[in-house]
Amino acid sequence: MTMTPDRWRGTCDYLGDVFGRPDPFMATLMPRARAAGLPDIAISADVGRLLLLLTRTTRARRALELGTLAGYSGIWIARGLAAGGRLITIEADPKHAAFARQAFADAGVSDRVTLRDGKALEVLPAIARELGPASLDVVFFDALKHEYEAYFEATVDLIAPGGLLLADNALGSRWWITDPPGDPSRDAVDRFNRRIASDDRFDTACVPIREGVLIARRKG
Ligand code: SAH
Ligand code: MG
Repeated sequence: MTMTPDRWRGTCDYLGDVFGRPDPFMATLMPRARAAGLPDIAISADVGRLLLLLTRTTRARRALELGTLAGYSGIWIARGLAAGGRLITIEADPKHAAFARQAFADAGVSDRVTLRDGKALEVLPAIARELGPASLDVVFFDALKHEYEAYFEATVDLIAPGGLLLADNALGSRWWITDPPGDPSRDAVDRFNRRIASDDRFDTACVPIREGVLIARRKG
């Protein structure tokens, strides 16, 4: 059986219907964010369940997210943390950060989530010093796509053996990965994908749900 455009559309609908069941709180979060003027670019509920599952699988005590937006993906990750676990999430836009702080409170995960204001590449050195090497069980990239390679440089030593590096938009955004080169974000994500896929320190796969989720596990 081969994939056809119709089958792909149907598959995406199926994934959303069967595996993307949001709970009542999560179902209202992005509509509220949109009404507050935030962009509607969060992950979907099926990707959220994947993040929760992967976080839980690592029994994560320390997680890091780049690109908070409204807190949607962060809440899924926070729900997957082990007891006593913590998520640090970095957001550059103060309006998004303010909305997300309230969302974390509303979701009952404020005690587990620390939102750091600022640009990821500016904030990461201080976080790296605080946390130290091999301290993170889950890292999720979802801020600027053309910075994914720089995020990798800044976080790779923080990932514990057995820890996961996850990246949203590994296959698409306003571009698609199979487009000809030319879009700076597409080209940067393509370089990032190829680089981590050939990095012997990681076992890596990419799941083609929504806009693609890269899953890389640090060996050891
Ligand atoms: N992870 C979120 C969506 C993030 S959208 C979810 O799925 O629910 C990308 C976010 O990254 C936006 O909120 C944007 O303001 C933020 N952002 C943009 N540039 C950034 C940077 N340099 N550092 C940190 N966040 C950034
Ligand atoms: Mg994304």
